[in-house]
Amino acid sequence: MNKAQIKEVKTLLSTPKKIVIVTHWSPDGDAMGSSLGLYNYLIQDKHNVTVITPNDYPAFLNWLPGNKKVIDFSKNAKVTKPLLAKADMIFCLDFNSLKRINILGDEVGKSKAIKFIIDHHLQPEDFAKYMLHSVEACSACELVFDFINLMGDGKKINSNIANCLYTGMMTDTGSFRFPSTTERTHVIVAALIKAGADNSEIHNRIYDDNTEGRLRLLGYCLSEKLTVLKEYNTAFFSLRADELKRFNYKKGDTEGIVNYALSIEGICFAAFFVERDDAVKTSFRSKGTFDVNLFARKNFNGGGHAHAAGGQSDLSLDEAVIKFVSFLPEYKKELNKKR
Ligand code: 5GP
Ligand code: MN
Repeated sequence: MNKAQIKEVKTLLSTPKKIVIVTHWSPDGDAMGSSLGLYNYLIQDKHNVTVITPNDYPAFLNWLPGNKKVIDFSKNAKVTKPLLAKADMIFCLDFNSLKRINILGDEVGKSKAIKFIIDHHLQPEDFAKYMLHSVEACSACELVFDFINLMGDGKKINSNIANCLYTGMMTDTGSFRFPSTTERTHVIVAALIKAGADNSEIHNRIYDDNTEGRLRLLGYCLSEKLTVLKEYNTAFFSLRADELKRFNYKKGDTEGIVNYALSIEGICFAAFFVERDDAVKTSFRSKGTFDVNLFARKNFNGGGHAHAAGGQSDLSLDEAVIKFVSFLPEYKKELNKKR
């Protein structure tokens, strides 16, 4: 956003508007934290604001301030379609392409509302009038913090906003350990704690809220489902739907499992495959120079960041895994680069 655009957006927001905030499919901590952080900012100025998610999100995010006001498009298309059609502004948070919000993307695309992207994923598509975008940002929450400050409203960051933004910064950086974590991340986090973010409590709510089933599913993955391919410095897990059921799977239960594969000594590429109703969902993570965004884009109809990306496959679970393994020789040199 250049100076003129900042002024335009300030002018737009100087009178009450009908605003919709949308975020990506299967919302995570950053998707919900950034959306509700922005929501809690915009409602201070008498705007009519609605957060719409394309589908459901994990229960460990249900405590975020404003959560009760969130509408799930997959369950409430009738209510949400007119909201999108009549909106003055639509903010698109934590995604770079309308494909990432599935059929909700058609409604956003059709709407005459002024669109605004706030995102940190690579290669954003050109579907919005305004864009606050940086791949350097550790999270969309970092950019919402910037947005509020660009609007000259840093003082309006209250504890509700601070708790939301801290959540996304924490989850997207793997609790401030991924290479995306910078000095700036910590400076902003310090400001958020000063504004009332309860950092220790947020950590408890997100990470110490396991059901017994979730913990046993993790144990099962680690002991029974891990494949390590030393030749390619690669490790992966795959889970069938019946295995999820056995552990009483709830949305979000498999989040983070892929990181255990990446934590193995010498491993620089980790993957996770899970059988969903409609497709096989894949998660990719890497360390060092291996770019999983490129890998996911090229091979699994997906994308994301250089070190964390995802995608999907219409093949069966076993076939998707076989396909994955068959790609590895092509990347052998890269996967064996000294770090
Ligand atoms: P996860 O593996 O946790 O689902 O996603 C890791 C990162 O990749 C996140 O930033 C997420 O937004 C992105 N991502 C996951 N799935 C897809 C996908 O199918 N397409 C694209 N473009 N990005 C994805
Ligand atoms: Mn994010």
